Amino acid sequence: MKNMKTSFSLNLLLRDNIKRLVPYSSARDEFKGEASILLDANENAFGSPYARNYNRYPDPLQHRVKEKLHRIKGVPVENIFLGNGSDEAIDILFRAFCEPGRDNVILVPPTYGMYEVSANINNVAYKKVNLTIDYQLDLDGIAEAIDAHTKLIFICSPNNPTGNSIRRQDIETILVNFDGIVVVDEAYINFSKQPSFTTDLAEFPNLVVLQTLSKAWGLAALRLGMAFANKEIIAVFNKIKPPYNINQATQDIVLEALEGVEIVNEWIKEVVGEREKLSAALQVLPQVTHVTPSDANFILVKLEEPRALYNFLVDKGIIVRDRSKVELCEGCLRLTIGTPAENKTLLKEVKRFYNG
Ligand SMILES: *Cc1c(COP(=O)(O)O)cnc(C)c1O
Repeated sequence: MKNMKTSFSLNLLLRDNIKRLVPYSSARDEFKGEASILLDANENAFGSPYARNYNRYPDPLQHRVKEKLHRIKGVPVENIFLGNGSDEAIDILFRAFCEPGRDNVILVPPTYGMYEVSANINNVAYKKVNLTIDYQLDLDGIAEAIDAHTKLIFICSPNNPTGNSIRRQDIETILVNFDGIVVVDEAYINFSKQPSFTTDLAEFPNLVVLQTLSKAWGLAALRLGMAFANKEIIAVFNKIKPPYNINQATQDIVLEALEGVEIVNEWIKEVVGEREKLSAALQVLPQVTHVTPSDANFILVKLEEPRALYNFLVDKGIIVRDRSKVELCEGCLRLTIGTPAENKTLLKEVKRFYNG
């Protein structure tokens, strides 16, 4: 890649309809102060059958949750967007920047499948530039693939399904040289020793970092994804999102759950310990060819007869992810790290499959 400073311009990147868009103005947007009689949103003033405050629309910009996330992650509130899962943030990126039938994005497989699905839903073309055999970025391939209509590049680090981190230096090279948006998906960052890119938002105006409460935080059912970016990009996200995209129950529960940093950090330590233990135990089996070193809460394991092992495990009530037909993951199963007891059972059954 050439080493030239990026000439990023948000205005040049945005779709025209989004630039022109007048966002929906909700009752809660138009009146923000404290009041004792709220007769502006056609809510039920009597209450709700479940809990009194659920008769009111939630805070559209989730200030209290963002304030708490700011304290945990050190990212200023104005640089935070909250979505109904990271998947909502991914979809909004397409809708903000990619003109269907004209623009394109770059994907670097094997990686998270949602980027491709979201591109397809939005009728946006994608160019695939495979990772190298050691699951790192092919910088020359990416440079060749970029054209005047390339708006987004998705990089998942630690990567799903391979588990490894993408070299920071390589991501920075793309951030500096690409005029479009670089999306760094850090869904698994809590399990990694690598620093988060959230500390680099001021340096890179074209950086969007995705994180989620679905993995390390143990809140997958609540659907809370985060996007971190400069405040102009966050403003675009807020303009496009449905007005009340994070429901009150999620906001309430998340506010409470975010008090649990300590237990979450304990779990992370335990998962990382179990990950290393399970990796080592699998590696010594003659039928296991490779365990990719992982910075996530799962491991990608190349082994003999992956599909037969998968089916054997299903019979024992153990479900893993068969990635054996995925390009560059041939022969691999992806194993999520469970509790110590679960991992022990898994290992026992794997050994039983191979040794009878
Ligand atoms: C699990 C996962 C997510 C999380 O998505 P949510 O919609 O927030 O649950 C995002 N990115 C990657 C790579 C993932 O594996």
